[in-house]
Amino acid sequence: MTTKEKGYVREDGRKNNELRSPIKAEVGIIPNADGSAMFQIGKTIALAAVYGPKKMHPQHSQDPEKGTLRCTYNMNSFSVEERIRPGPSRRSTEISKITEWALEPVLMLDKFPNMVVDVHINIIQADAGTRCAGINAAAMALAHAGIPMKDMVSSISVGKIDKTLVLDLDKYEDSEFKDGEGSTDIPVSITHAGEITHLQLDGKISKEQLMEVIEMAKEACGKIYEIQKKALKEAIK
Ligand code: UDP
Repeated sequence: MTTKEKGYVREDGRKNNELRSPIKAEVGIIPNADGSAMFQIGKTIALAAVYGPKKMHPQHSQDPEKGTLRCTYNMNSFSVEERIRPGPSRRSTEISKITEWALEPVLMLDKFPNMVVDVHINIIQADAGTRCAGINAAAMALAHAGIPMKDMVSSISVGKIDKTLVLDLDKYEDSEFKDGEGSTDIPVSITHAGEITHLQLDGKISKEQLMEVIEMAKEACGKIYEIQKKALKEAIK
């Protein structure tokens, strides 16, 4: 809750720059897929399955210059308390597109002309931060599928509640302060080399605070990267 003197104090007792726990990652969870992974952060759980590269159909969708990354984000109807309508929505279409943009820069798709790599992301439990969890799972699943990659991608959201920046909002924080004046939520995806591949912002923030958001996200993505790397190494073993 907010007090004028102290600023925003987190309900779950986390520090402002603290990730939720537990954070769990596992690779190879879906035997029939070419690559697969699970990423959990707090109560949010994302599964990703990769199929391909395979010939793109219909033929007119083929790109002779490079392969196509096709991501499908789906939040299962049972993933939230208030059951959501199954099937595609405006939100899921947007997040699918954003996931493609976040991951494409690290994929060497020029090696697969006329082909498609399908990534299916399922959110089986949603407590905010699902697009970032989905991107983390998808990046691991692509590596597990052996798709050539220049780097790994890690993703996290930074929220601004009143004037305070807080890492990795949970559903309570996300919904409680959503409409507060000056509140916003900024998902960021970053390569291990530090290149930002995705950033969404639909609230108001100063340039200085945005730089601070990026620094917080970079530090957190460094931690997430280590967890992703460990899970991939386990799978190779
Ligand atoms: N949510 C929900 N029903 C919906 C959409 C979202 O209950 O139809 C919840 C869900 O917990 C989700 C959170 O609201 O994780 C925040 O959704 P948002 O669209 O901000 O995306 P996210 O933070 O999950 O990437």
